[in-house]
Amino acid sequence: MYRQIVVLTGAGISAESGLRTFRDQDGLWEEHKIEDVATPEGYARDPEMVERFYNERWQQLHNGKIEPNAAHKALARLEQEFDGQLLVVTQNIDDLHERAGSRRLLHMHGELTKGRCPRSHQTFLLTDHFGVNHTCTCCIPAQRLRPHVVWFGEMPIGLDRIQHALDTCDLFIAIGTSGTVYPAAGFVDTANHHGAQTVEVNLVPADRHSQFQYHLQGKASEIVPQLVEQILAGEVIGEKPLSGAANV
Ligand SMILES: [Zn+2]
Repeated sequence: MYRQIVVLTGAGISAESGLRTFRDQDGLWEEHKIEDVATPEGYARDPEMVERFYNERWQQLHNGKIEPNAAHKALARLEQEFDGQLLVVTQNIDDLHERAGSRRLLHMHGELTKGRCPRSHQTFLLTDHFGVNHTCTCCIPAQRLRPHVVWFGEMPIGLDRIQHALDTCDLFIAIGTSGTVYPAAGFVDTANHHGAQTVEVNLVPADRHSQFQYHLQGKASEIVPQLVEQILAGEVIGEKPLSGAANV
């Protein structure tokens, strides 16, 4: 039925795995002010504090308790079994999609598991914590790596590739994303403009001004496996009800 699918995932899908993420309501992320830990200015002011913050997030991700949930696993299954094109775009900086098995994945806000050379922009996998010992191998003298995280005031990663995928997709699904942070909040408009079906999966009630054609309210870990089942069976989303989902 569908030939090209774009999936956007946000904080909601990670939250169901027990990860706390930035909440824009209070401007805090794990009790830290956003301007201190998620802006280039905050990093320039106090790089050690910012490194410590991301090290704590890195440790939380590797504490053995945080695991991909059924929604992450269902998207990995979709990648393996779907005959058409699929691109998963995530706003999350954790590696839960990768751990579930996703490979065709774009981290538009960067990755917690990587550091980046500030000069060449080359990225390096971090096998342990950040610190002054973490330097690039691309420059002489070696540069201190910065977190490979897109901060406020910086350009998201891969926008050209995302734009191209949205221009040609016939299904766009947004999962667990607030729909308030641009440019991601505008992806649905592009998909609608090109005639794609647009589907939203969210724990909180959909904004009544939402641009999505179809809204599903409930847990991603319950809804997404059913959506993937329908797509792989060649069914059109919305024709059959899903359990655990309020169609709002
Ligand atoms: Zn370098």
